[in-house]
Amino acid sequence: MRDTVIEEYAAQLQACMYQYSRAIYRSIKDLIDPYVAPDIHLEYRRAVLEQCEQTMERLARDPLYFAKPDRALFQDIRRYFPITAQAEVAWAVKEGVAAAVGFIAEQIEAGALDGGVARCRATTRKGKPCQRTPLPDRDYCPSHQHLERSQVAA
Ligand SMILES: [Zn+2]
Repeated sequence: MRDTVIEEYAAQLQACMYQYSRAIYRSIKDLIDPYVAPDIHLEYRRAVLEQCEQTMERLARDPLYFAKPDRALFQDIRRYFPITAQAEVAWAVKEGVAAAVGFIAEQIEAGALDGGVARCRATTRKGKPCQRTPLPDRDYCPSHQHLERSQVAA
């Protein structure tokens, strides 16, 4: 049950991240090296889009442990841009990634991304899900731990 909620949330987050990766791509695609053959240029565009998507996907999957995602993305794509455009690309990537990072930080703060915070699986007498923290490695809190035992017995 809980896993399903997390999976649904992850899918939603992926969709949002896709919007951010498109925004970054749109902000820099016209700066891609224009002095290469058309087929190479197309390849460059594809590579830049792919790197933007991969960076956003990784950010969505691993928001707390992806250090300096803007620098990582810039390093991956800078070779597709002429020297004269590098500063502008770096700035656009920084802005675009910062927007995505800010969005994820908001989600974490709102508790939507509480992958680490577990909740007791019991339902209270009022019919609401118990909000207490379960015992370590258990599905239930101290006042509901008898439910776990009866489950094991069954
Ligand atoms: Zn409980």
